[in-house]
Amino acid sequence: MNDLQIANSVAPWPIQDIADQLHISRGELEFYGKYKAKLPLDLIDEEKLQQGNLILVTAITPTPAGEGKTTVTIGLNDGLNRIGKSSIAVIREPSLGPVFGIKGGAAGGGWSQVIPMEDINLHFTGDFHAIEKANNLLSALIDNTIQSKTRNLGIDPRTVLWKRAMDMNDRSLRNIIIGLGGKNGGIPRETGFNITAASEVMAILCMSKDLEDLKDRFARIYIGDRFDGSPVFARDLNAQGAMATLMKEAIKPNLVQTLGHHPAIIHGGPFANIAQGTNSILATKMGLSLGDYVVTEAGFGSDLGAEKFFNIKSRAAGLSPKAVVLVATIRALKYHGGKPLKELTSEDVEALEKGLPNLQHHLDSLRSFGVPVVVAVNVFSSDSEAEKKLILDYCQKQGVPVALSEGWARGGEGCQDLGELVVEAAESYQNRFTPTYQLEDSVEEKIRKVAQTIYGASVVEFSPVAKSQLKKIEKLGLSQLPICIAKTQKSISDNEKLIGRPRDFKITIREFEIAAGAGFVIPIAGEILRMPGLPEVPSAESVDIDAEGRISGLF
Ligand code: ADP
Ligand code: MG
Repeated sequence: MNDLQIANSVAPWPIQDIADQLHISRGELEFYGKYKAKLPLDLIDEEKLQQGNLILVTAITPTPAGEGKTTVTIGLNDGLNRIGKSSIAVIREPSLGPVFGIKGGAAGGGWSQVIPMEDINLHFTGDFHAIEKANNLLSALIDNTIQSKTRNLGIDPRTVLWKRAMDMNDRSLRNIIIGLGGKNGGIPRETGFNITAASEVMAILCMSKDLEDLKDRFARIYIGDRFDGSPVFARDLNAQGAMATLMKEAIKPNLVQTLGHHPAIIHGGPFANIAQGTNSILATKMGLSLGDYVVTEAGFGSDLGAEKFFNIKSRAAGLSPKAVVLVATIRALKYHGGKPLKELTSEDVEALEKGLPNLQHHLDSLRSFGVPVVVAVNVFSSDSEAEKKLILDYCQKQGVPVALSEGWARGGEGCQDLGELVVEAAESYQNRFTPTYQLEDSVEEKIRKVAQTIYGASVVEFSPVAKSQLKKIEKLGLSQLPICIAKTQKSISDNEKLIGRPRDFKITIREFEIAAGAGFVIPIAGEILRMPGLPEVPSAESVDIDAEGRISGLF
């Protein structure tokens, strides 16, 4: 059975039954049909936040298919519930781009999925649409301002950084010219679209504490400059009120269920390269308010996802994970050991052994945060007994707790052992994590610390453009913000060809972007696309719906 068939083989429970597990009354739930509900923000209980066990799921350096963080997150959540813990999976909302492109669903896989999976993958509760609208409202206000004879604020159209957004992979919108058609069509200028998940509005939503904070962050968005060189912010266009109004429902986390009928909260979905790559702070806080355990995920490998989870999100939210689950797959480690992508399903103990240094690197860099780490080997049917033994022995020899994670094949039952280890780790840890850098460090110093401690780089170089942008960041008074490094997820380094555990490499910061509203500076190492394209044969071609409304071909 494929993921959609498995998902459809389980009848979801009414969402009220899931809410009952969390002692949420019917009156508090905001129903979106039978199986989805929004949770009002007043269910967040600040008193409970520090008592809960926040469990972060991260991964080794992934292959293009993804190594199963979401699948392990959902499986572990069900495993924890099965061993008597009140646990909630808290994850990101999928973007429509990959749904119709190549990646497959973002709602887990096999017997570790969230349902109703069609809804979650398609439109869901409309949050992405609201984000898109808030983003595009600001765009419309900017171009209207530039067009105005009396209220144009002196904006230099060539400096406007703010782009429009759409939740679709559409490369032809990446760079466009707008304002054509003569005097009434506006002032022509070059601009483009970001996919919604890569928009600053998405990042802002996921960093916000409440509606007021959301509005303040919108006000701080840096748009571009005036002809005299002074900066223009969204507040100069009085945009923040209307933008926040459009977000009044989108700011509330969404409640759904796993295939095991345990609670899952899904909210926000920022990219993990140019943004923080994890669900909203509000959703995480909601989970900690309603359950004793929250299992959550951060995008790509630990060098991107976990680093940002600690240094950006946890710091801003005042939270500290109690344990980190590092997802490893035998196939990805064989890939890091030099085996070609197409041959990963055949046994190769030697390649696996050669790939283990990648796992080792992630273990070493995660240790810098001081939080206990548990390795979850996400088992694929192609993994051999000898391969499984090798990786288990490797971890045990080093005293790192390790369990096979069989949630994909067996749901929560296949993650109970992992659950036991996670509980042991979380309950024995009473400290708070050690950040990689201090906010008072200079931007260069922050980058150096992440590059050396987390990536294992020897030096960081800055291009001339980056150097001049650093001055600008200082001038704007933004040097004290955390950094959100954009780099490839395919390598620990900034060169995707360096698989395994590269050493003595340098990181080159080509340029910076500024996300003043989200509250971080984005150093860019390499080429980063904010608007992906579709593949030669898009998965959209196989998606269909019949006369009864049954969907097929969705993964
Ligand atoms: P990530 O969150 O790390 O990107 P996902 O959990 O979304 O990864 O998994 C990526 C893809 O791999 C999904 O299509 C999922 O169904 C599939 N997958 C994950 N774990 C397994 C497994 N153990 N066996 C087979 N397929 C798996
Ligand atoms: Mg995922």
